[in-house]
Amino acid sequence: MKRPKIIVIGAGYAGIAFLKSLDEECFRLGDFTIINKNSYHYHSTMLHKVATAEKSGKIMFDLREILHPEIKIIQQAVTDIDEIGRIVTTEHGKYEYDYLVCAAGFEKESFNLEGIENAMFIDSYIQSGRIAETIKLKFENALQNNTGMNVVVCGGGLTGIEFAASCADMLKHKCKFHGISDKNFNVHLISSTPRLLTFFSEKLSKKTADRLEKMGVKVTHGTRIVSLDKGRVNYEGGHLEADLIVWTAGVKGASIVSDSDVENDRGRVKVDAKLHAPDHSERFYIGDVSAVSDGKGGYYPPTAQIACEQGAYLARQFKAILNNASFDENFSFKSNGIICSIGDSYATALVMGFEMSGFIPSILKTIVKKKWNVKVFGLKGAIL
Ligand SMILES: Cc1cc2nc3c(=O)[nH]c(=O)nc-3n(C[C@H](O)[C@H](O)[C@H](O)COP(=O)(O)OP(=O)(O)OC[C@H]3O[C@@H](n4cnc5c(N)ncnc54)[C@H](O)[C@@H]3O)c2cc1C
Repeated sequence: MKRPKIIVIGAGYAGIAFLKSLDEECFRLGDFTIINKNSYHYHSTMLHKVATAEKSGKIMFDLREILHPEIKIIQQAVTDIDEIGRIVTTEHGKYEYDYLVCAAGFEKESFNLEGIENAMFIDSYIQSGRIAETIKLKFENALQNNTGMNVVVCGGGLTGIEFAASCADMLKHKCKFHGISDKNFNVHLISSTPRLLTFFSEKLSKKTADRLEKMGVKVTHGTRIVSLDKGRVNYEGGHLEADLIVWTAGVKGASIVSDSDVENDRGRVKVDAKLHAPDHSERFYIGDVSAVSDGKGGYYPPTAQIACEQGAYLARQFKAILNNASFDENFSFKSNGIICSIGDSYATALVMGFEMSGFIPSILKTIVKKKWNVKVFGLKGAIL
């Protein structure tokens, strides 16, 4: 009997959690292919560390090393999905599918801001690596010319805060290493919200801002950025000169989804309880390209946590699909919380309803990362 063709787009947390949760029987019954822009999977939650070249264990995994040998790997960028003909088109070919699992993740959201091309983005491993290279280059220039450096981070969400803290740490270390004062090496963080991380209580938000300021980050709240110029961030009522502008003020679902015919809101498809696109039982959307109802009239925010759970759930569903069995389980999600690292050994967090700050939540974040390493790489992942 012909084995159904299953194509997975994207090797992020969602796509990898799906493929790593399938069993031998699934690979015998189905023909699985993953199409990804790169030949590797990476920890998106650690991209701020890539952007500051901070050592933080293994971040990137070769797909061939972590995936079942039966899975075909195609390293190409998908350019189009033909939902009617059931064909995925890439820059180099066309691939037919019986089932599609779209897990293409997030992209920067620029809100059509004027001058956005003057900023850099933490939205992929490659882009984040470019930021680290730029910082290195600008630092060398400042050293040679006896000047300083201004990094302006636009956006006070998780990514902006984690990057600003790592960047301030990195500049301090570099200055110390070269025996120069760090007073002309500044990191600014501009947030449009009146306080940082509004899902935290006011007290924890304040702790987050206080810790950043203690690390030397200059935090500006409640300020809307109106445009960017080369080397300049313009906001309502003022501007900041910048040697490097890093835009972290929002993400949306991948453009292959936002540009496709499927109904979506900024690249996120409102999926049903089985994670299908409405009325399309052969097409699934998981991770940051999906919007899952929280049962209270809203949608869960896109996180690595929900992406992993969706992947594991979908694998259970595929076991039934491939066996022509019925599957009654609906996807349900309960968030364990959120941890925001502020430098190497400090974090603020809301975990299982409890707010905490300090060293312990930063250890928890490391444990979450190790747990994922073990899932993708086996027991040896625990020491990577
Ligand atoms: C710095 C930072 C810190 C974060 N911290 C946390 C945190 O502490 N906790 C948390 O839960 N979440 C956190 N997040 C959010 C989390 O990383 C995302 O929600 C998560 O990565 C989504 O997983 P995903 O699998 O949907 O997509 P992604 O991880 O974005 O993976 C998508 C994959 O699809 C590929 N792809 C995209 N388009 C195409 C195409 N056209 N063709 C082929 N391949 C394509 C990409 O190359 C990528 O490999 C953080 C994000 C950042 C940037």
